[in-house]
Amino acid sequence: MNTMKLHPALDNGIQPASADFTGGTLQCLCATDKVEVRIDAQTMYNHACGCSKCWKPPNALFAVIAVVPRDKVRVTAHGEKLAIVDEAATIQRHACKQCHAHLFGRIENKNHAFYGLDFIHTELSPQKGWSAPDFAAFVSSLIETGTSPAQMKAIRERLRSIGLEPYDCLSPDLMDALATHVAKQKGLLPAA
Ligand SMILES: [Zn+2]
Ligand SMILES: [Zn+2]
Repeated sequence: MNTMKLHPALDNGIQPASADFTGGTLQCLCATDKVEVRIDAQTMYNHACGCSKCWKPPNALFAVIAVVPRDKVRVTAHGEKLAIVDEAATIQRHACKQCHAHLFGRIENKNHAFYGLDFIHTELSPQKGWSAPDFAAFVSSLIETGTSPAQMKAIRERLRSIGLEPYDCLSPDLMDALATHVAKQKGLLPAA
């Protein structure tokens, strides 16, 4: 199954993070007048995502996506080319109207556990040193976008072979964070 195309950042050898990396730029895929977004932070929770909403390169099974604090994200060029893909979605994905690359996804619901974090694809950055993907989320969702259920065993094996544990929702850390947020909102756990 070496021809399986997970994602270029996974298939071509996962690049390790640089210890003192503090950010870089993201650029859309247009040949000219690129949308540019400045990220003044290292990414966290970089992972492969099999959901149907994350932006991915052609023929890739997975997106690779990470988070950064939203106050570290700044559009620095050609913001006029950005539009929100789906205003109703929890994560509002700001994409280039011309090349359709997603520059950042933002949660505007202040009650959401992940409010304050933006979702970005560091493959759009010319810099090296971003945090490395270390798990795979929403793996079973691949079937919803047309992957045969018969392929899933091989896909999960391939993910494990490159060090990414496959999960069918988010990783346990992130699922615990979501559940903790719910418990705090209900007053079942202390707020801070
Ligand atoms: Zn573009
Ligand atoms: Zn996703």
